[in-house]
Amino acid sequence: MLVRVAIDLALDRLFTYEVPKELEKKLAVGQLLSVPFGHRTARGFAMELGEEELGKRTYSLKPIDAIVDEEPFFSTRLLELVRSLAAYTAAPVESVLKAAVPAAVVKPNARAKELYFISPALAPAPVPMTARRQWLYDQIVRLGGGWMQQLCRELKTTPASLKELGRLGLVTIAPRQKRRDPLGNMRRILPTKPLPLNAEQTAALGVISAAAKPVLLFGVTGSGKTEVYLQAIAKELESDRGAIVMVPEISLTPQTVRRFASRFGDKVAVLHSALSDGERYDEWHRIRSGAARVVVGPRSAVFAPVRDLGLIVVDEEHDPSYKQDDNPRYNARDAAVLRGKIEGARVVLGSATPSLETWHNVSLGKYDLAEMKCRAGAGTLPAVRLVDMSAPQRGDSSGAIFSRDLLDAVKLRLDRHEQTILFLNRRGYSRSVTCAVCGATVDCPACSLPYTYHRADACCRCHICGGWILTPKVCPACGAPALQYKGIGTQRAEAALAKCFPNAKILRMDADSTSRKNSHDDILSAFRRGEADVLLGTQMIAKGLDFPNVTLVGVLNADSSLNMPDFRAAERTFQLLAQVSGRAGRAELPGEVIIQSYDPSAPAIVAAARGDFAAFAKEELSVREECFFPPFCHLAAVNLRSKDWRTGGIAGRSSFARPRFRRLSRRGGGFSPSARRQPHSAPQSTSTPSA
Ligand code: ADP
Ligand code: ZN
Repeated sequence: MLVRVAIDLALDRLFTYEVPKELEKKLAVGQLLSVPFGHRTARGFAMELGEEELGKRTYSLKPIDAIVDEEPFFSTRLLELVRSLAAYTAAPVESVLKAAVPAAVVKPNARAKELYFISPALAPAPVPMTARRQWLYDQIVRLGGGWMQQLCRELKTTPASLKELGRLGLVTIAPRQKRRDPLGNMRRILPTKPLPLNAEQTAALGVISAAAKPVLLFGVTGSGKTEVYLQAIAKELESDRGAIVMVPEISLTPQTVRRFASRFGDKVAVLHSALSDGERYDEWHRIRSGAARVVVGPRSAVFAPVRDLGLIVVDEEHDPSYKQDDNPRYNARDAAVLRGKIEGARVVLGSATPSLETWHNVSLGKYDLAEMKCRAGAGTLPAVRLVDMSAPQRGDSSGAIFSRDLLDAVKLRLDRHEQTILFLNRRGYSRSVTCAVCGATVDCPACSLPYTYHRADACCRCHICGGWILTPKVCPACGAPALQYKGIGTQRAEAALAKCFPNAKILRMDADSTSRKNSHDDILSAFRRGEADVLLGTQMIAKGLDFPNVTLVGVLNADSSLNMPDFRAAERTFQLLAQVSGRAGRAELPGEVIIQSYDPSAPAIVAAARGDFAAFAKEELSVREECFFPPFCHLAAVNLRSKDWRTGGIAGRSSFARPRFRRLSRRGGGFSPSARRQPHSAPQSTSTPSA
């Protein structure tokens, strides 16, 4: 017998080995094997088993060394998913395998943690007891046993005394697996009961139970989607089927996990990037063994080895973090749909602002739709006000950051002891060049998208077509010498706000203030406890959070994401604004949202202010169709790289750019703008849209 093995070398090929007779019966696809490879031993997954046609081979094959674990890491269905994704994303199958199981589970020294556990003997030997010995024994009986270390600490004794009890036959001491549990204390909280569903939720659950296709659960923020997920999962558990719940990494907060853990207790396993290797190892094994039936995790959870998978939920299905940015470049939402099909599992895609791809699939009839338009618990949808920032703002120097309207609204909340969230989407990468006077951006004439300012060579570059210009000195629209490259960041906004309201307590949350482990939760908990009046942050604060005392949400610059050089910029802007607005008025207090914009007539902003997804989707989809962008086509990028531009070569990098040829200078290593591409006055047409 022969076996074809995927070894993690990203060579995109399988290696064939002979199977020793004694292993033939035990071998199965999906197992982790140890094989000789060159002069070393490697590990790899058994992908295919086969018999050899007699007399064909003229060379000898090496036999595999061993089966590392007889329990397969991948079921045949999971392997099918892996193969399909590899084919679709043009990635080596090894790289998909690697993405699919945590390294902590595969690495050679990965194992369960074993510690000495001491239990009282059932029939203790009759031995002479000293007072101390008797006391110790009684305590161990009282506790029902315990870990060696733990008993030493709690009973103030030593391993030697405990071992003596063991020698005397009063207790047994044996190694036992100690579970490394990321949920720890969370397991001890009181279980929650299913809430009685309202009419919309009941209808949605009905659609999900009856559906033969993936279902889009389109529910406004606060409509109670999570409760629907929970009850859909409960149904699957009743018929002994498991479930996967995917959430964006950023909203995988203890708060989210708690909602699942408090309903399903020990049946829940979590997988996310903050786990220790040990925790990940144990959680993964609990899933594979069937001890855990519900997996909550980010995009990689789509590969969780859940047995008899009945349901996959993709919460916030529109979230960009479901798309992996490097090999394999899969979108976990699409992978979930594929896995659902392969495993015969239901798939629920939930969102208040569905991706246009999903919305399009609903209108094509590929997905079913369940809609929830009202908030479930207390709370009404907030009133939204647009403020035109291009109109001159009276007042102080902070006018460029905060409008009068917003400042008044913040003041009102401070007086009433209610809380405010201010949102400023200043992510760390490229910014557009904007006029401080009229708000115009400097756009690429060929693509009508904003140029990106590159500081190193003082150029404005188009990330779509590669064209560039020298950065203008004055605004091309109004002629004012007031072009700005610096957006207003959260730090600057914080300082300006503190100046306006010296007595307000302000918390800032962005990549800088949350670099410490747990600082994310610390900030949110402090805000929830009412320790601050204002929470100012980036998109980190945009989703999934539920603060009862927040009655005002301000968006400082709604245009910043609109000006991103990305065909999804309008979609992302709509999503962000809708999600942020959803933060206000979640409880009894009514909420207000103020959106500041230099371009308050942009369709994405107008629609977001009205909370009208359908109108936005209709408008934006017609633009996409006209420009032939996804979902009306597939978009891929092929970047060709070579030291010599004439011979060419292929490297596996891609982005939203069209094909670009880069000539690297032999001499300096650097290159001047002119060597790369002509300015727009002399357009070139070497690239074609890659559809
Ligand atoms: P979503 O996920 O759609 O944003 P959530 O699931 O967070 O909404 O629900 C919002 C709030 O409504 C939560 O506080 C939740 O406990 C409450 N809720 C959900 N369903 C019900 C229900 N059927 N009855 C009462 N309250 C509910
Ligand atoms: Zn361009």
